[in-house]
Amino acid sequence: MSEELKEQRSNNFIENIIEEDLAAGFPANALRFRFPPEPNGYLHLGHASSICLNFGLGLRYNAPVNLRFDDTNPSKEEQEYVDAIRRDVEWLGFKWDKECYASDYFQELYDWAVMLIKQGKAYVDKQTSEEIAAQKGTPTTAGTDSPYRNTSPEENLALFERMKNGEFENGTYVLRAKIDMASPNMLMRDPIIYRIMNASHHRTGDKWHIYPMYDWAHGESDYLEQISHSLCTLEFLPHRELYDWFLDQVYDNSRTRPKQREFARRNLSHTIVSKRKLLQLVTENYVAGWDDPRMPTISGLRRRGYTPEAIRKFADTIGIAKRENLIDVSLLEFCVREDLNKKANRVMAVLDPVKVVITNYPEGQEEWLDAENNPEVTPMTFRKVPFSRELYIERDDFREEADKKYFRLKLGGEVRLKNAYIIKAESVVKDAQGNITEIHCTYDPESRSGSGTEASMRKVKGTLHWVSVAHAIEAEARLYDRLFTVPEPDRQEDSFLNYINPDSLKVVTAYVEPSLKTAQAGDTVQFQRLGYFSVDPDTTPEKLVFNKTVGLKDTWEKIKNE
Ligand code: ATP
Ligand code: MG
Repeated sequence: MSEELKEQRSNNFIENIIEEDLAAGFPANALRFRFPPEPNGYLHLGHASSICLNFGLGLRYNAPVNLRFDDTNPSKEEQEYVDAIRRDVEWLGFKWDKECYASDYFQELYDWAVMLIKQGKAYVDKQTSEEIAAQKGTPTTAGTDSPYRNTSPEENLALFERMKNGEFENGTYVLRAKIDMASPNMLMRDPIIYRIMNASHHRTGDKWHIYPMYDWAHGESDYLEQISHSLCTLEFLPHRELYDWFLDQVYDNSRTRPKQREFARRNLSHTIVSKRKLLQLVTENYVAGWDDPRMPTISGLRRRGYTPEAIRKFADTIGIAKRENLIDVSLLEFCVREDLNKKANRVMAVLDPVKVVITNYPEGQEEWLDAENNPEVTPMTFRKVPFSRELYIERDDFREEADKKYFRLKLGGEVRLKNAYIIKAESVVKDAQGNITEIHCTYDPESRSGSGTEASMRKVKGTLHWVSVAHAIEAEARLYDRLFTVPEPDRQEDSFLNYINPDSLKVVTAYVEPSLKTAQAGDTVQFQRLGYFSVDPDTTPEKLVFNKTVGLKDTWEKIKNE
């Protein structure tokens, strides 16, 4: 895999920064990266970009990459999410060096906070969050000093200790760094570094009653792990000054000093990449769970039948950028289609059946015909498909009357049945409502595919897929459409929930060829002429369940060339 990921392309701007650092003397063996998810939800396609960026750099520079859980907010974080994140990063094909947790550094972070207090660089504020916010000022006017800004270190130390020991209610006190209430950067106006939270943490239990804020924890965690380049999304650009200020307080110049650099978030059309909103879809039952195949989560895509290769290819193709833009979801579909085309065996399944009776085919006879598994793979391999007098074809593949451009089956017309014979439609049987219940056809016994006869080579315009009624297995097929009806559901005036596509899931009964009897959850096949499908974990020995991964028709080429 690493070779494939290292394929030649021009450097992105982050790689340029690293190249400059190396040229300026930074030792290559001190390069170290991290992917730092907060375990408050499942990973989504936006995270895939960050994962591919960080782990891609690790492969390129032969440098370690840590998986760091940024677990500083016990009210939203859970072990379930930690497990899901580990599984997803692994499934994408990446290996982390150390598995780290910001919560492992709670003691160091606390000790450093004590040091700041002793140096007069941090103080306990007793005001409410509203009062603190009101004193912040505006970007053009300075803030106002807190009345507690000049409390003595001794008094602050005593209060901070009591905060730690759980003597106070949530929200009563905070610890703030004493920086600059007049800084043009609002984040530098005495930011909060600790808050009281009497909550149980998924790893440290009830040991702590105070928890560090993101800015305080993140940079110091990078430093403790000796991360050389700490890559984050653009909204953290204004945080960089604070990141550097915090590092200045603890930095020992014999060690690596981490460098924060920012890249643009990835947004994808017709979906949402925000854990908070995805959580809402789950908790309010708009979808069946985090791994619902309509979700843009890694686990949803996996269940849908996406491959790690397709997701990595997608991330590599869009690359990273300095500015935000919207990526069309059809590019993702293009990537998975390309990958599955190489990997998925072709099989026959009918989703909306109508019965064909071949009147000149002997009753009770059956033949097992050769069908090629995948024309993209050499050497060729084959399986057997049963043919008999009664077959299903797609209802949509037949018209009583149609013009010359209709190459499927029509009365008086001929088509080839894939891997089998040429048939001709002779008449139809209808029910009382006028719906067609049977199409009576005749077949040309000389025309069997691959038999080498003149009739077998005869060209007819249309080829249809089919299954033998007597041999077909009934299965459930779940057909998905986009989860949202508009390209940017979270940029509307009203809630993104108002743009959920009510037809994003359609469940139908499919009739599939018997070779699929032993299919296992996770297997992927191409239902010929219909699309790629994967076997859902809901499958039981009694009932096969398929998810439609993606159709066969490419819309990306069209969009790209517009
Ligand atoms: P969310 O808003 O979905 O919760 P987040 O940024 O808060 O996302 P984290 O778990 O903190 O989620 O993110 C881990 C890493 O993934 C961070 O470095 C973050 O910048 C990156 N990341 C998250 N979303 C995207 C995205 N849409 N595009 C690129 N990188 C992303
Ligand atoms: Mg976050």
